[in-house]
Amino acid sequence: MLLREHNCFYEILPQPEKITPAEGSFEMNAPVAVDAPGQYAFQAERLKKAMAYFDMTNGPGSQIIRLAEDPSLPADGWKISVAPQEITLRASNHAGMSYAAAALIQMLAVATSAGKGRFLAMTCGTAEAVPRFPWRGFMLDSARHFRSRETIIKLLRIMAHFRCNVFHWHLTDNEGWRLPSHVAPELSGRGELHDGAYSYEDIAEIREEARALDIRIVPEFDLPGHSRRLIRVLPEMGCASGAGDEVCLGKKCVRDKVGELLNEVMELFPESTEIHLGGDEADSKHWEACPDCQKALLERALNSVRELEHEFVLSLIRQVQDSGRQAIVWNDAGIYPADVIVQIWVEKNRLENLKNGNPVIMSPCGRCYTDRLFDWELQFAEFQNYLGVQDNYLYDPYTGHEDFRSQILGVECCSWGEYLPERRLLNKILPRLTALAEVCCGDPRQKEWTSFVRRDARQRDAGCEFIW
Ligand SMILES: [Zn+2]
Repeated sequence: MLLREHNCFYEILPQPEKITPAEGSFEMNAPVAVDAPGQYAFQAERLKKAMAYFDMTNGPGSQIIRLAEDPSLPADGWKISVAPQEITLRASNHAGMSYAAAALIQMLAVATSAGKGRFLAMTCGTAEAVPRFPWRGFMLDSARHFRSRETIIKLLRIMAHFRCNVFHWHLTDNEGWRLPSHVAPELSGRGELHDGAYSYEDIAEIREEARALDIRIVPEFDLPGHSRRLIRVLPEMGCASGAGDEVCLGKKCVRDKVGELLNEVMELFPESTEIHLGGDEADSKHWEACPDCQKALLERALNSVRELEHEFVLSLIRQVQDSGRQAIVWNDAGIYPADVIVQIWVEKNRLENLKNGNPVIMSPCGRCYTDRLFDWELQFAEFQNYLGVQDNYLYDPYTGHEDFRSQILGVECCSWGEYLPERRLLNKILPRLTALAEVCCGDPRQKEWTSFVRRDARQRDAGCEFIW
C-alpha cells in the first residue's frame, strides 16, 4: 500500500474535479520516452525540459509518456492516465494539452522533490478536469512601475502553468505610457515612478509567447481619467485650465487624437478579441469649469458632464466594436449597452450592470487584488488594506449573483502597481494567483483550504512554474 503522498494526483494545482485511483504504480525505470503527434510538439518539448530539470532521463526505454488527441473531451479539458508502463495525456485542443502537461509536471515535481532526489512511485489512476470558467484572468499594471519584458514572459508562463488564459495588460495611466507610438512617440518611456517602455520587438515577442501558451492579451488604454501622462506630454489633451488627470471631453482635437491612439493600440495587438477602455475613477470637476466641455454639452443637448463622459466613452466603445472586437469597461464607468463587457471591482453600478444584461468579469477589490497585504504585520501604507489569501481562495463569483450566473464569464486577479516595484512583484502575486486559479478552474464543492495550502506550498517549493 502506497502512502497518500505518493498519490501525485492529489498534488495538482488547481485541483482536478475527478480523481480515480487504480491498482499499481508507475515506478521510474529510466529512460522514459515522450511520444506526441505534431500538433503537440510544443507540450512534448516542455515535458522533456521538465524531465531534465527533475533529473529524469528522456529516451527510448520500457516506459512512455504519450500525448494523444481525444475529440471526446471538451475544449480546454484534459485527462491524465497513469499505468505502470505508460502515462497518457489526452485533450481535444492545444490549451487542454498544455494544462495536462502542466499537471503532469506538477505530479513529477512532487514525485522527485518528496523523494529526496529519488523518484517516488506514482499511484496509478486517472485525473480529469474541465475549467469552470472561460475567463481565467490576470491583470498586470505596467503603467505605474514598469515591468520588464522578461518579467512579463515569466508571468505568462506562470499563468499557463496554473491554467489562466487571459492576460489583461494595464499599459497607460497617470504615471506612465508604456506602449511604443508613431502617433505621439514622446509619450512612451518616461514615468513618474519608474522609466521604461516596450519596443515594437518586445510587444511582438510577448504576443508570440502568449499565443504559444494559449493566453489572450487584453490591452487596456484607460480613458477619460487616469490620463495625466497623456496630458503632460500633449497639453492640448487636457481642459483649458490645465488641471486634472482627465482628458477634455469638448475639444475635437482630443477626440481625433484619442481615436488615432486607440487605433494604434488595436494595431499593436491584432489578435486581441477584447480591448479594455477603463472608464474608471474620472473626476468631473474640471469638465464643469471648462468652456470647451460646456460648449460640447450644449451642442449635444446633454444635461450634465457625466452624460458627456458617457457619450465620449460610448464613441470609443463603438470604435472598438467597429474593428470587430469587444470592449470592456470597469463597472464604475456607468451603464453601457449589453454587448459591452463590464469588469466589476467596486460596488458602484454592480447590480445595475448585471440587471442590464452585460457579461461581467468578477474582480472585486476586496477578494481579487494581489497588491494588498496578506500579513497584518507588514502594514506600512494605508492604501494597502489587508486581504488574506484565504479570502481569495474562498471567493465565489456566484455568491450574491445567483440570478446572473450565465453573465459571469469568470474571475480576474488584479495586480496594481503604485506600491509594487518589480522586485516585489512575484512574492505578491504568487500566493494569490494560485488561489484564484483554483476559483476559476475547480469545482467549488471540492474546495478545501488546508488541501490548497499544502499543494500550493509543495508546488512553490518545487519551483516548477518557472519551467514553462
Ligand atoms: Zn474640457
